[in-house]
Amino acid sequence: MTEKEYSGILIFAEQKNNIIHNVAYELLGKGRLLAGKLNCGLSAVVLGPDEINIKELIYRGADKVYHIADEEIFSSPDELIYAENIVKLINELKPEICLFGATSFGRSLAPRVASSLHAGLTADCTDLQIDDDMKLIQVRPAFSENILAHIKSDTYPQMSTVRYKEFDEAERDEKRTGEIITVEPVNSSNNTIEILEELPNENINIADSKVVVAAGASIKSAEDLNMIKELADLLGGEVGASRALVETGIISKDHQVGYSGNRVKPKIYIACGISGAPQHLAGMKESGIIIAINNDPSAPIFNVADYSIVGDIYKIVPELIRAIKNEELKI
Ligand SMILES: Cc1cc2nc3c(=O)[nH]c(=O)nc-3n(C[C@H](O)[C@H](O)[C@H](O)COP(=O)(O)OP(=O)(O)OC[C@H]3O[C@@H](n4cnc5c(N)ncnc54)[C@H](O)[C@@H]3O)c2cc1C
Repeated sequence: MTEKEYSGILIFAEQKNNIIHNVAYELLGKGRLLAGKLNCGLSAVVLGPDEINIKELIYRGADKVYHIADEEIFSSPDELIYAENIVKLINELKPEICLFGATSFGRSLAPRVASSLHAGLTADCTDLQIDDDMKLIQVRPAFSENILAHIKSDTYPQMSTVRYKEFDEAERDEKRTGEIITVEPVNSSNNTIEILEELPNENINIADSKVVVAAGASIKSAEDLNMIKELADLLGGEVGASRALVETGIISKDHQVGYSGNRVKPKIYIACGISGAPQHLAGMKESGIIIAINNDPSAPIFNVADYSIVGDIYKIVPELIRAIKNEELKI
């Protein structure tokens, strides 16, 4: 296929329990800008039951929404079935660009779609641009975030996964109109996934939290982590962690901040006993105010900190808790 046969931008709108993931609105925000440069349409595809708030995708910038409608087939996150349906749609629509959120599901789904289409895929993009040849430039960090690779695809559609929280969400406009097209699902592979039991949801939403209090390898036990949790609770925030702490098993990977964890942009990020390795900074350096506590004055975390506290977290964190409780300190 030549590029002329392809036109328009298609974004995958991930949903869970009928709620659309916010990354879809970020993809629509960026997609709208790219569509303006390419002078083409912007569409979204969503798979699942009628209860999904599909109109929201139109309010957020989609011209058309393809709703592959079925309650049963898409009730479990089976990448093979999702991929089969999305590949069929892409083969019919022939969009020149396809974007997925780099969520756990998106990271698992997009390569399956790309491989079925014999197309390239750039994973974990942090920026997308259009060059003078009207081709997509896919920007992503490489070599532990030390360089930014600019990647052009020579296959169509040009496909990327895009990190969550990288782009601003598309503005909402209830006056926007668009078309919702219902598509019949296909399911030739039959469901390969059966949900036996759902593990209790820890309800961690670290990526959306306004305050993150993060702990590093300086925390020696699960009990010691309680002071970090207490500080986070007092500030209405979530607990984050460095990979080194996650690797001890004291805290789950859901809390990990960084290159291979969550990317966070809270108003306040408090780093407790975290050295500030580039892979950690990659996930939090865009935070509003960074407060770092470390007993090593030369720790690299202080290079990105707005407030630096040199000292022992085992003394400073309880002192902060005490001062906040006594209203001597307001954060
Ligand atoms: C491909 C790749 C991906 C990675 N992805 C990530 C990622 O997503 N997130 C991530 O965090 N890391 C990631 N890493 C690991 C990263 O390189 C670092 O090893 C890790 O961030 C170090 O964690 P840390 O700062 O908690 O531990 P350390 O480097 O051991 O630092 C502990 C810090 O705590 C201070 N300290 C110790 N005790 C106290 C105390 N009582 N009071 C105050 N300060 C104290 C020390 O001075 C030190 O600065 C990745 C590495 C690779 C190679």
